[in-house]
Amino acid sequence: KDDVKGFFRRNAFVIFTVAAVIIGIGLGFALRPYKMTYREVKYFSFPGELLMRMLQMLVLPLLVSSLITGIAALDSRASGKMGMRAVVYYMTTTVIAVFIGIVMVLIIHPGKGSKDEFKNQQKIEQVSPADAFLDLIRNMFPPNIVQACTQQFKTQYGKRVVHVKMTVNDTLFVLNGTQGQHIMREEVIPIPGQVNGVNALGLVVFSICFGLIIGSMKEQGKPLKDFFVCLNEAIMRLVAIIMWYAPVGILFLIAGKIVEMDDITETGGQLGMYTITVIIGLSIHAFLVLPTLYFVITRKNPFVFICGILQALITALGTSSSSATLPITFKCLEENNGIDKRVTRFVLPVGATINMDGTALYEAIAALFIAQVNNMDMNFGQILTISITATAASIGAAGIPQAGLVTMVIVLTSVGLPTDDITLIIAVDWFLDRLRTTTNVLGDSIGTGIVEYLSRHELQSKDAEMGNSVVEE
Ligand code: ASP
Repeated sequence: KDDVKGFFRRNAFVIFTVAAVIIGIGLGFALRPYKMTYREVKYFSFPGELLMRMLQMLVLPLLVSSLITGIAALDSRASGKMGMRAVVYYMTTTVIAVFIGIVMVLIIHPGKGSKDEFKNQQKIEQVSPADAFLDLIRNMFPPNIVQACTQQFKTQYGKRVVHVKMTVNDTLFVLNGTQGQHIMREEVIPIPGQVNGVNALGLVVFSICFGLIIGSMKEQGKPLKDFFVCLNEAIMRLVAIIMWYAPVGILFLIAGKIVEMDDITETGGQLGMYTITVIIGLSIHAFLVLPTLYFVITRKNPFVFICGILQALITALGTSSSSATLPITFKCLEENNGIDKRVTRFVLPVGATINMDGTALYEAIAALFIAQVNNMDMNFGQILTISITATAASIGAAGIPQAGLVTMVIVLTSVGLPTDDITLIIAVDWFLDRLRTTTNVLGDSIGTGIVEYLSRHELQSKDAEMGNSVVEE
């Protein structure tokens, strides 16, 4: 009997979370026939909205404090090596993801048949991937660090203005991009809600540099280091409290979404095939590629690892935001999977910001799907361009709901596909977003496990040097 009790106590969070998903789905479908109004749905999903806000509230201080403390706890040689390993992992897995996406969409060919006429035919200039790349680099250096906390990214380029209007999450976005691809995020006007966006990439770069400097300052840097260690610990304690609320929030997030979603049967043939293509692609990446990679490198059972982060994966599914999930991912990796805090603090925030395998895979599929419905044949060069821009777009996408849909514009314009056609895939995007976010979180977590394994010698020698001290001391 004690065993049963012990089992429940040890796995309470996961049990609650899984129960929340099941109850949420059941409740959602039970309430659908009542055809709630928009306002009623908003009231109903209010507990879910609160969870999103609580998690988002923690992301910024968590991101900055964990990166700074993580890096300051290592010497620059060790963090350099660890950083390299992480970046190699991110790039490899993202490229694999894009490749899987392209192969799947070419084999399944979900856009078969034709789109009879172009709506809003517009001429869009081709823009070079080089510009997209420069924008990415540009955003790594936010000119104003305070502003970077409140806006996503900024581009300086451009002459011609292209307007794209789209509704995401009941939010009307007016994208005023110059030359199509140069979307000025400060000109992305969300009405009526606010998209909680930050230039996470800029903050990550800043925090890494800051951590390196503080680490190298030895005694002089200690007060600042202590400050961030303390801040980080305080935030993690807040996370521990919010985790108890998470199942409730997830229940209402999922139920609310099911209540308000459009009728699935209306989702036509091409869109249905597109959805299936994305699901197959994501499944191959999440269940085959990533676990195999983990196993080959660490020789440990990847599925035990995945069980440890189940709550983070479900939170990603519920919130469709990898940055909102970040606090939970930290907890799971450190407490359930016993990953060294020096690794999670360094590798995880970076991963949550730039490593989005699911998003990259989806962007490649979506772009080629749009080409297919427009009966536009893509040659090898164009497919290559799509893979490069899909990778860049996934790095540039913020870890917030449906950010990938917005950065799609970059991919489409790079090969001259009509950006207006993003509207074709919006109907199913809320669903696919949840799946790709879960894949993103899985990719980040497995990456942390792999980097920890590869860095074990440096970590051990650092331990020996410090007399076995851990990062808090
Ligand atoms: N929602 C995704 C995430 O947070 C980003 C995307 O839209 O692809 O990871």
